[in-house]
Amino acid sequence: MKQNLTAIVGGGIGGLVTALLLSKDGDRHISIFEKNDHLGGRLTYEKHGEYKIDQGPTIVLLPNMLLDILEEGGIPRSEIPLISCDPLYDIHFKDGTTFTKFPDPDRQKQELAEKFPGQELHFDRFLSDMKLRFLQGKTQFLEESFVDKRSFFSRKNIQTLIRLKAYQNVKRMMKSYFTDEKLVDAYSLQTLYIGGHPQQSPALYSLVSYSEHEHGIWYLKGGYARLVDIIVDELKKRNVSIYLNAGVDQISTKGEEAQYITANGIRSKVDDVILNGDFPLMDQLLPDKHRLNRRYTPSSGCLLLYMGLDKNYPNHSIHQFFLGSDFDHHMQQVFDKKELPEDPSFYTFHPSIVDDTLAPEGKGVLYTLIPVPAGEGVDWSKKDQLIDHVIGQMEERGFPDLRKHINWMKVRTPEEAEQAGLFAGGSFGIAPTLFQSGVFRPQLQPYPLSNVYAVGASVHPGGGVPIVMQGAKLLSNHLQYHATDRHNYKRGV
Ligand SMILES: Cc1cc2nc3c(=O)[nH]c(=O)nc-3n(C[C@H](O)[C@H](O)[C@H](O)COP(=O)(O)OP(=O)(O)OC[C@H]3O[C@@H](n4cnc5c(N)ncnc54)[C@H](O)[C@@H]3O)c2cc1C
Repeated sequence: MKQNLTAIVGGGIGGLVTALLLSKDGDRHISIFEKNDHLGGRLTYEKHGEYKIDQGPTIVLLPNMLLDILEEGGIPRSEIPLISCDPLYDIHFKDGTTFTKFPDPDRQKQELAEKFPGQELHFDRFLSDMKLRFLQGKTQFLEESFVDKRSFFSRKNIQTLIRLKAYQNVKRMMKSYFTDEKLVDAYSLQTLYIGGHPQQSPALYSLVSYSEHEHGIWYLKGGYARLVDIIVDELKKRNVSIYLNAGVDQISTKGEEAQYITANGIRSKVDDVILNGDFPLMDQLLPDKHRLNRRYTPSSGCLLLYMGLDKNYPNHSIHQFFLGSDFDHHMQQVFDKKELPEDPSFYTFHPSIVDDTLAPEGKGVLYTLIPVPAGEGVDWSKKDQLIDHVIGQMEERGFPDLRKHINWMKVRTPEEAEQAGLFAGGSFGIAPTLFQSGVFRPQLQPYPLSNVYAVGASVHPGGGVPIVMQGAKLLSNHLQYHATDRHNYKRGV
């Protein structure tokens, strides 16, 4: 039987994991066309001399989802060196108090009783409510695709949406558990992991802060981007064709089907095309008549600082959050006013305290992420002032004399992210608002074309590495079980 020619446009984690799952059976010839000179997309390193640090994702969530999918793709769990983060992370408030999160619920309650007396009782209710909601949400929303939109509005799903209080926002839901404003922030800020405003993201996403306690936070030895090398090694063994510096700029169609893709002026015949770039940018590859032309709101952007240090700060957690004086005001500046914050909350990642493969002996690497607005019309003239303020805060609140210990520093702005192909420079694809989630997000078959599919952060079920991998699993199941009939029929098999 002739092999199906499957072209994957983009070698981000979505494209790579789809290739991994589809290449198991050998009935397709898979080609990955990547416009960059490296694979991984957002999942890559920032390197300088002997220093290297993740450029994008750092927090490994939902380890079992990630490991199960890789195992299904033929990569054993033992090949993925995950290290548990315990404590999960520290949250430093502006008044000098620090709240630490732990995977062990008893240890967590002890911390709550010490720092926020009385709130430990609410934590029990939070865990037990969320446990139920997580199980329902996972089965009905993460493990389902909504190619047939009617399936989303089934009676069962609507009941679950009501139970999950999807009509509420994350912050409001957290207020129903915690009465201390600091704790509300500590359990709402996770929407920023996918570029959402805590007050504009539906309560479904409050499952992220629950999942941290239930499933833990992990670190992948060598950095999260090491996952790319592990997957690519396997793809090469399976003869998946990989083309780098091969941006696809056109998909030619005949009727309701894609026929060819064009990269670097070369046309290749395709049976199936899988788009892994950000939406709505993927529209541009298609002829006008097939485009969705839908307007989307981008997720938030990030101002990122990557540093090589001449030392480590070992008495800290790998992950830390430093909150500014007014978290809500910062969120307003990022999502509504579209202005640079003057006293932002920020996140730091200091993996070299547990991983000696990232810097020369005795030296370290550090990453700082400041949520900033995406999109046009942001006045960036105060960027240097903002960076200076944040480094000052880091020195005062966790990294004494930091400036003296920086050997190398690189800054990445949303403008650079946009040039690299991220929609409006947002870090996480389209924003996780109610009307851009679930059935309202682009689906795995987003166009009225029978052989054009999609996977990635802007596609259901959404952003974050394990969730994008889950999207790849939904797509490969769809292709294996639903689309086979169509191809067999076409070929007269
Ligand atoms: C700063 C930052 C921090 C993050 N932190 C976390 C975290 O802690 N934990 C977590 O789980 N997630 C995190 N994320 C999100 C996570 O990185 C993404 O959800 C995920 O990597 C997206 O994968 P993807 O496959 O959708 O796309 P991408 O990584 O965007 O890959 C798409 C690929 O397609 C290529 N491409 C696009 N158009 C074309 C074309 N026309 N032709 C050829 N190639 C094309 C691009 O070059 C790119 O390589 C973070 C992201 C950022 C930016």
